[in-house]
Amino acid sequence: MKDLASGLMDCGLCAAPGRFELAARPLPETAPPGWRLVDIAAIGICGTDYHIFEGKHPFLDYPRVIGHELSGHLADGPDAGTLVVVNPYLSCGSCRACRKGKPNCCAAIEVLGVHRDGGMCARIAVPEGNLYPAGGLTAVQAAMVEFLAIGAHAVARSGIGEGDRVLVTGAGPIGLGTALFARIAGAEVHLMDLSEQRLATAERLFGFGRLHRAGTDILKGELAEGFDTVFDATGSAKAIEAGFPLVAHGGSTVLVSVVKDDIAFSDAEFHKRESRIIGSRNALRADFDRVMAAIRGGQIPTEAIASEILPLADLPSRFAALAADRGEIVKVLVTP
Ligand SMILES: [Zn+2]
Ligand SMILES: [Zn+2]
Repeated sequence: MKDLASGLMDCGLCAAPGRFELAARPLPETAPPGWRLVDIAAIGICGTDYHIFEGKHPFLDYPRVIGHELSGHLADGPDAGTLVVVNPYLSCGSCRACRKGKPNCCAAIEVLGVHRDGGMCARIAVPEGNLYPAGGLTAVQAAMVEFLAIGAHAVARSGIGEGDRVLVTGAGPIGLGTALFARIAGAEVHLMDLSEQRLATAERLFGFGRLHRAGTDILKGELAEGFDTVFDATGSAKAIEAGFPLVAHGGSTVLVSVVKDDIAFSDAEFHKRESRIIGSRNALRADFDRVMAAIRGGQIPTEAIASEILPLADLPSRFAALAADRGEIVKVLVTP
């Protein structure tokens, strides 16, 4: 909600671990050179936001306005009103990764809603190069592009294709997004999770049929040789380590989620497979474009992803419960 008369807007803020509230902040009226003002239309809430709320995020100063899965309309200029997806990864443009065309892993990256205040508010200023026109998408679909781009990027990093057998561990939103793009790439997709409920959701809403409970022995029968690629989206060091023996000879592990702990693996097992471990961080513009094309092409069941759409005013009373119960919820979206 914005109150134009007073020049203030409500922002969704984590004041301290365990405390989510609305706070009044000045409505931005001008953007720095090279930046544009965006009137926020929809905001996705993701695992990162819940981690910030729970105080589990490693690099974060409170208070923090959250919100990095953003869509909105350009607020001014000749193209005012254009629906855009916000790429929330602000890169320096000059470090080695940036010079090599990899701003997604910029050495000085600042993610909106994590390292600096985000877009859970009525309006935000964003560098113009981080705004991608989202023609053909609804505002809610456009707010899903960033989290889906994480999976699209991981699949692009893996190099998988037609006929590859793939296991995605962790059937939360990031795992589901990864699985959707692995399926689009033509792979035979298996999903693994500890939660029966999440696996049931993956089947019912997304049509994934090859489902495995974590902790069961799956390397038997036709799966005895393992998987060409194991994508980890669990956020668990133990799960990452449990995934290494599931990689087939000649296969790869792609680490989509990040953990604070060290991970260990058997070098002999790794070497005899001639395996690869690939990190996947954030996403590139090409991934955002691929996601938008897939949504326009009807390949992403966005209705199934949007578990609930809430007004921002309702979020303070709901946030703790949403953070605690992520079994059946795929994604909650907020409108300012
Ligand atoms: Zn996210
Ligand atoms: Zn950089």
